[in-house]
Amino acid sequence: MADEAPKAAPKKEKKTFKPYKPGKSCPKCGSRLGEHANRLACGKCGYTELKSAQKGDESGKKH
Ligand SMILES: [Zn+2]
Repeated sequence: MADEAPKAAPKKEKKTFKPYKPGKSCPKCGSRLGEHANRLACGKCGYTELKSAQKGDESGKKH
């Protein structure tokens, strides 16, 4: 019999080389900023940049 095409394509495509994320560069030294939970940090000069507010259900909650 002929092969039938799979009904549902797999959610994830086969792994591919992920090109370097066009991350932000440090405005101070030009290095790529490392991504942290909620901030970007430069490992060279120590520059830190908070990520913009991200989705969350913390409305009016201050910490
Ligand atoms: Zn830097």
